[in-house]
This record gives sequence, C-alpha cells and structure tokens, in this order.
Amino acid sequence: MEVKVLRSTPFPEELIAKAMRGCRSIKSAYNLVLTQDDIQRLIRVAIKMGHESVLEHASITFGVEGVSRVLTHQLVRHRLASYSQQSLRRVKVDNSTDWYVLPKTLESHKRDFSNLLYLIGQAYNGLIKKGVSVESARYILPMAVKSNIVITMNFRELRHFLKLRLSPDAEWEIREMAQLMLSEAKKIAPTVFEDLGDKNVQSI
Ligand SMILES: Cc1cc2nc3c(=O)[nH]c(=O)nc-3n(C[C@H](O)[C@H](O)[C@H](O)COP(=O)(O)OP(=O)(O)OC[C@H]3O[C@@H](n4cnc5c(N)ncnc54)[C@H](O)[C@@H]3O)c2cc1C
Repeated sequence: MEVKVLRSTPFPEELIAKAMRGCRSIKSAYNLVLTQDDIQRLIRVAIKMGHESVLEHASITFGVEGVSRVLTHQLVRHRLASYSQQSLRRVKVDNSTDWYVLPKTLESHKRDFSNLLYLIGQAYNGLIKKGVSVESARYILPMAVKSNIVITMNFRELRHFLKLRLSPDAEWEIREMAQLMLSEAKKIAPTVFEDLGDKNVQSI
C-alpha cells in the first residue's frame, strides 16, 4: 500500500489559529498577526476545550494505492470526507500483475488463497473474452482486489478517523493506512496531530 499527499491547505496551523483567535478578538482573522508560540497555544486550547470546528478550515488530500475493497468499504463509512475511487466498471483488472491483497492473517493459507484467486482471475478474463462487459464481469472479483482511492479530509474529520482506525479494534489493513496518513499529517500540521498515535485511540 502507498499513501501519498496530493495537496494540503497552505500554512494550515496559522489558518486554524487565526480562526480560533478571531472568535475572541475585536479584530478580524484577516488582521491578526500570530507568533509560532501563539499558533501552537491556540491549537492546543481549541483541541482541549473541544472547539474543534476551527480544525475544519484545513484539509489534506491523500492518494492511496493498492488497498483492498475490504478497506475502501470500511473507509467510505466515514461520511464527512470526500472520495474518488478507481472504477471497476471502467477499469479492467490486470490480473497478470500483483492484483490482490493477501491478508496478513491468511499468510499460513497463502497457497489455497492464491490458487483460488488465480482461478477467479482466469474466470474474469474468460468472461471478458466471451464479450461480457467489464462492469458485469467485476461481480466475480473478490473483496481482496486492489484499488486506488483519493481521499480528502478536513483536520477535524481526519483526527476523528485516526482515533477510530488506529485502534487495535480496527482491522490491520485500515490501521496500516491510518498509520501512514498520521505520519504524513504530522509533517504537515505537527501541533494538530501531536496527541495522536498508539496511545490515543478510541475503542468502540
Ligand atoms: C472497529 C470498528 C468496527 C466497526 N464495525 C462495524 C460493523 O460491524 N458494522 C457496521 O455497519 N459498521 C461498523 N463500523 C463502522 C462504524 O459504525 C462507523 O460507521 C464508522 O466508523 C464511521 O464512523 P462515524 O460515523 O463516527 O464517522 P463519520 O461518518 O465520518 O462521522 C463523523 C461524526 O459526525 C457525526 N455524524 C455524521 N453523520 C451523522 C448522522 N447522520 N447523525 C448524527 N451524527 C452524525 C458523528 O458524530 C460522527 O462520529 C465499525 C467501525 C470500527 C472503527
């Protein structure tokens, strides 16, 4: 799996801090000048007091490659994000390549799993060769089939998502993706995401 940042809000922490200070200042956010210390303090106060709407002003767009449809099905349950997923109606799966995710939990059954997926791949190709459309043939594909997806989350939603999906209760694959997203988010907005990691997760 790969998780890359496609875009993020420029100077996100300054923006969030200005939104926060603007709530308590006679000046408009546009006219505020903040030091780095002010920025960090304001973000920490916002998060501590639950004034989290200020975090919605900044976002990150991630490009995620090579994850299963099991993962993307779980991911899109997070409704306050935006998604664009590679279409299995329009894109034919190239099963001559590394086209599915082998679950870590099935490592000891690798041979059985791979044999079955080989057969599915052959059947998929066979249907298309017989004139079946790609969108119809996809019905026999497994949930393990690899997919690419673009995700945009604002920082409030990203924090919420990370708290749920870094949890040991979450499945290994989405947890792995959440770890990669957190590590990118920490580079972009270290103060906003500083309290998140293995020790701050939400159990459901
Ligand atoms: C470990 C784990 C196991 C799970 N197992 C299952 C399962 O077995 N079956 C299953 O169906 N799902 C399961 N889920 C999915 C889970 O129920 C949520 O749908 C998913 O985690 C998205 O969370 P969310 O609704 O908080 O996020 P988002 O949709 O991103 O929403 C963010 C927040 O916005 C608010 N919000 C959004 N929409 C509404 C709304 N319509 N009404 C009120 N408030 C709203 C809520 O405060 C919510 O927490 C599981 C999730 C996890 C992490």
